[in-house]
Amino acid sequence: MGQIPAQTNKLTLCYYGHRALRKKSCDVCEITNDIQRLAQNMIETMHAEGGIGLAAPQVGININLVVIDIPGSSQPDNPDLPSTSPGEINLLPLMPLILINPKLSNFSETKTEYVEGCLSIPGIKSKVYRPEFHDLEATLINGKTISYRCGGLLARCLQHEHDHLEGILFLDLLSKPKQKSLDGQLKKLKFND
Ligand SMILES: [Zn+2]
Repeated sequence: MGQIPAQTNKLTLCYYGHRALRKKSCDVCEITNDIQRLAQNMIETMHAEGGIGLAAPQVGININLVVIDIPGSSQPDNPDLPSTSPGEINLLPLMPLILINPKLSNFSETKTEYVEGCLSIPGIKSKVYRPEFHDLEATLINGKTISYRCGGLLARCLQHEHDHLEGILFLDLLSKPKQKSLDGQLKKLKFND
């Protein structure tokens, strides 16, 4: 393992319409210094933009790498409730977190709704239905593999970021009438392809 660079840089975000946001990403084969530097720069970019998650395609790199920074209490609509899922209990203390090759599975049948936004689609927010729980498998930047059942805002954020790795945007999960109602706003967004 190389040393994590102290100097970080804010990266340029890709906005709605950029082709990197629609490509399926590839697995990271080795945690090189470049991967570590990229991940640290993604964290800096996420923080600078006020986001709680960022996926590598959002900075134009189609690899399976996401960074997240979920606040301590992770119940989407009820910040006073304690975090209950094993993923929240184990991962929230490690934030900000770099996840390499994250895999999600065993989605719960119960779904919850929550208003989502996306750093690549500025100014647009909408309620999105997603499964309440799922399993997460991923590799941490130190090479350790983790596996947890996740819920709360952590599950919400992981599903949103994982979708980016598949070329899916939260807009795709909205009803057709809702998508149509956002057409005007989307056309005005900056395209930097
Ligand atoms: Zn997003």
